Amino acid sequence: MSGVDRLVRDEIRALHAYPVQSSAGMIKLDAMENPYPLPEAVQRELGETLAAVALNRYPDPRPATVRALLRDAMGVPEGADVMLGNGSDEIIQCVALALARPGAVLLSVEPSFVMFRMIATFCGLQYVGVPLRPDFTLDRDLLLETIARVRPAVVFLAYPNNPTGNLFDADTLVEVVERSPGLVVIDEAYHAFSDATFMHRLADHPNLAVMRTLSKLGLAGVRLGMLAASPAWIAELDKVRMPYNVNVLTQAAVRVVLSHREVLAEQTGAIVAERSRVAAALTAVGARPFPSAANFVLFQVPRASEVFDALKVRGILIKNLNGSHPLLSNCLRVTIGTREENESFLAALKQSL
Ligand code: PMP
Repeated sequence: MSGVDRLVRDEIRALHAYPVQSSAGMIKLDAMENPYPLPEAVQRELGETLAAVALNRYPDPRPATVRALLRDAMGVPEGADVMLGNGSDEIIQCVALALARPGAVLLSVEPSFVMFRMIATFCGLQYVGVPLRPDFTLDRDLLLETIARVRPAVVFLAYPNNPTGNLFDADTLVEVVERSPGLVVIDEAYHAFSDATFMHRLADHPNLAVMRTLSKLGLAGVRLGMLAASPAWIAELDKVRMPYNVNVLTQAAVRVVLSHREVLAEQTGAIVAERSRVAAALTAVGARPFPSAANFVLFQVPRASEVFDALKVRGILIKNLNGSHPLLSNCLRVTIGTREENESFLAALKQSL
């Protein structure tokens, strides 16, 4: 007997690991990555900079230049402090770890980013998921009632939401912040495609935190996320962060790429333009796209799982959400790619329907 069954917590054994689909040889439109490479000049600069990094040394645990560049790029207001994570996934984990008193609740809405629930489970928090309305808007009354009843230590709300792509009503979010007894984290992973933010509201609400990531901007492989909040919150959350969580190569790559921010802005603009085109084309082929403020579009088609498989046979990998939540019945999610990738997807979809 290895002890696996006896020793590993029941709730962990009941989990499935975060699903990552195999994508070898396929057009990859499943994971909200930016499809564009960096310009050659930036690639060269990266190569030279990374070659000179001292890999034998531990990373700076509070890298001043990276922090300053990020604060500037993300518009973090003066009075707020920031904490860096190995992706924003790790920041969610730090928040959960710090708040995991016995009986503490992490609350979110459903359907939303699956890691909120998973990380709550990892860290021993109770998870409460409040259903969205069928059109994926917040059910304000149910949300506020549930917050009053379960008094969550932390609320996570993705803005725009994944996998639905919509922005929640900002006034309702403010009410959530004002009526929550605990921390409220507005997860702005898709901020670059939305023009909406809670960053400027940090000074108004001591229990508000805003999370961002470089992943959807073109640096998913680099792994860097950021939380902005009051210095009092950051001081405590930072204690559960592993001291060397942002490695030397990540730090160097971020310094180079963020000093060429105009490149990311240009790519983001192209993705937003393609998003409108893809949404219109989805309607034209008879699918039902939902409004998106992110770099992906959720859409509904008859027999979605069969369509998903047929796309895969044609070399197109998207995300099948059918069966993952009752509101997502027959829903698929496509990440916006390059114009050519989107054309291939739309042609394959037409054949698959
Ligand atoms: N928040 C949301 C809403 C997401 O969709 C994702 C990525 N799928 C993340 C956070 C995590 O991003 P990362 O760890 O790459 O920063």
